[in-house]
This record gives sequence, C-alpha cells and structure tokens, in this order.
Amino acid sequence: MTDESAEVVIVGGGAIGASTAFHLAELGVTDVVLVERATLASGSTGKSAGGIRAQFADELNVRIALRSIAEFERFEELTGRPIDYEQSGYLFLLDREEDVVRFRDAVALQRGLGVPTRELSVEEALAIVPQLSPEGLVGATFGPLDGRATAEAVVAGYAEAAARRGVRVRQGEAVVRIEVAGGRIVSVETTRARIATGAVVCAAGVWSPEVARLAEVELPVTGERRWIHFTPHTGGLPRPLPLTIDFSTGFYFHTEGPGLAFGGREQTLDELAGPATRRLPALADLPVQSSWSGFYEVSPDHNAIVGEAPEPGRLLYATGFSGHGFQQSPAVGEHLAELVAGRGPTLDLSPFALERFARGTSREEAFVI
Ligand SMILES: Cc1cc2nc3c(=O)[nH]c(=O)nc-3n(C[C@H](O)[C@H](O)[C@H](O)COP(=O)(O)OP(=O)(O)OC[C@H]3O[C@@H](n4cnc5c(N)ncnc54)[C@H](O)[C@@H]3O)c2cc1C
Repeated sequence: MTDESAEVVIVGGGAIGASTAFHLAELGVTDVVLVERATLASGSTGKSAGGIRAQFADELNVRIALRSIAEFERFEELTGRPIDYEQSGYLFLLDREEDVVRFRDAVALQRGLGVPTRELSVEEALAIVPQLSPEGLVGATFGPLDGRATAEAVVAGYAEAAARRGVRVRQGEAVVRIEVAGGRIVSVETTRARIATGAVVCAAGVWSPEVARLAEVELPVTGERRWIHFTPHTGGLPRPLPLTIDFSTGFYFHTEGPGLAFGGREQTLDELAGPATRRLPALADLPVQSSWSGFYEVSPDHNAIVGEAPEPGRLLYATGFSGHGFQQSPAVGEHLAELVAGRGPTLDLSPFALERFARGTSREEAFVI
C-alpha cells in the first residue's frame, strides 16, 4: 500500500469519469487520479448503443444534448481520437395517439431551443426505412442532429487527453474506502494505495450507490439489465440508417459495422422476437451472431442525478442516467469539473441534484428508451 495525494479522486473509468478527468484538465486541474477497478469503458459505457439524441421531453436534457453534441462534433480536434461520430438521426415510431401529442409538444420545445426535429407522417417514416411494417403506426418524429459514436473511443479519447496533461489514469484498481472526518473527505483507499484527497467524484455508474455509501451518501439508483443483439449484415436496410425506435415497445435498431444492432426491454431474444419482427419483419431472416448485456443505472424519475452532496463536502456524484448517460457525458463531465474547480456552471444542472427527491421536485423524463 503506497501513500499518495491528489487534489481530486475520480471513481470510475466510464464515459462520465473520463469526461470529468478531461474537463478538469481543461480547467488546469491536473493533480487528479482516476481509479477504474477493471478497464476503461468496461462498465455500462462499453455495453451501450452509443446513441446520441436531442429528442428529449425535459428541456434540461435538450440543453445537455446541444452542449454534448457540440463537443462530439469537435471531439477529434479536442482529444486527438476519432470516435466514428455520425449524425444519421433518430427515428421515433409512434403507435399511440397520446404519444403523438407528447412528441408534438416535445418537437415544439426542441425547435424553440434550435433543434431541427420534425414530426413525420407514417408514409414519410416509411420513406426513410421502407422495410418497416406500418401496422398500428399513427405518427413519427425524426431528429437530424441525432446519431451515434463509438463509446469506448470516447472514453479512450478523454482519458488519453487527460493523461497527456498529467492526470493519473489507473486501471485494475478499486476504491474500497472513503475516509471522512469532521464532515470532510480526508482520503480514499484503493486496493493499491491510500490517496490523501479533499474531493471525490463518484462516477461509478450503476455501482455508484455502493461507492457513495462509503461516504454515507445514499443515491437512489437501481440496475436494470439491457441486452443488445448483433447481426452479420443488414438484410438490405438503407444506409445511412437512423437509430429507429418503436417507442411503445422499446424495440430499436441501428447499423453496427456491416450488420445491425438491435435491442429492447426484453430479457431474452425469444421475448424480443415478437415486437421486433412485428415492426421490422426482415429481422426474422437475419441470424443473430452475438449478444451482450449491460446495466441501465435507473433513477426514480429517469433523469440523471448530478451534483455535490451537502455532507461530506466535496463528494460529487453523477449517475442515474436511465439509459442516456453516454451521450450526456460531455456536458455532465464539464459540469462536474466546474463544480470541483469552483467555477460558475456553463449549464446549470442544479435541478438534477440529489436533493430534488427529498424536496419533492423530481422531474420525469418521458422519452426513455
Ligand atoms: C444495452 C445498453 C444500451 C445503452 N445505450 C445507450 C445509448 O444509446 N446512449 C446513451 O447515452 N446511453 C446508453 N446506455 C446507457 C449508458 O451506457 C450509461 O448511462 C453510461 O455508460 C454510464 O456511464 P458511467 O461512466 O456513469 O458508468 P459506467 O460506464 O458503468 O462506468 C462506471 C465504472 O466505474 C467502475 N467502478 C465501479 N465501482 C468501482 C470502484 N469501487 N472502484 C473503481 N472503479 C469502480 C466500473 O468498473 C465502471 O467501469 C446504454 C446502456 C446499456 C446497458
């Protein structure tokens, strides 16, 4: 066990931890250790679909998306890493009139904030993806700003750029203890070192409640397993193909290399086959080559939980993204870095602080995939 010190310790090497490290370095805070117990992006980030969208119902999520998309657009220039970023859109398919009304309101909100989302007729949606079955559909929306990137590349880009500026990025090392005295953080103990520090950023994804509990902070986050399946080819679907979502069932698909990736809420391929092939009959003819699963870190209102605990001071957290944490990592990492450095926020994320649940001011994000 070695004795060290750092101004800040970041727990977790997923998109959120790596982005925070990068943004701290951007602000000149480089006396930082990022501790990842396995390998970078080995948690939910590496299991994600890499989707990035501005089509949200909560205004703050739209603002986070705009801020994050601006960073994804410049990512290679900022970090030196290409991330396969493509803006091929998100196509939401709607089969309930009440969803058409909700999405219409959200399109108005998004357009008011400068997001060029459009409401589409079913015929217009089919013109984009002709292989869709229109059965039951009553409407659709399309967001041309939306798209995808390779999540592991984003983590690598942030971590490498942070490391070049002096941030210590360590893998295969777990945080096991946070020592608090007099309401302040004193040190973090890992499986290899005792790091004297005054600030901890908990970015441990679905494992954040365990980490925050080391400092007696309770984060209301639960894990929900989600599967993605991969096919070796697309069966003739158009390219570029938008990330297409059957909103009521949660079934979605997008291109991944030469094939398709698809998923949903179901826990087995057999259960998913019904809703999937009803909307995309061509899928029935495609073999599934591989599958993997990871965890959504779900909060009570399906919005992120981001902020600084009142006690102990300087315990910051970001989790509870409920299926949209990868894409929010640029804006959330920037926000955490600003909180650590005592800077005014570029984007005020205080409505997403943990205290909202105790205050009764939780805010539901309705567009969860
Ligand atoms: C199937 C699937 C599809 C998804 N699709 C999308 C999508 O299209 N778009 C999107 O935005 N989001 C998507 N998500 C959600 C997204 O993956 C997560 O919200 C996001 O990756 C969370 O990032 P994170 O950095 O907070 O957590 P993680 O990536 O889970 O990183 C946390 C890290 O902390 C480490 N850790 C845990 N405990 C400790 C400890 N004690 N000490 C040290 N390290 C520790 C873990 O090993 C892990 O690497 C998807 C998720 C899944 C499962």
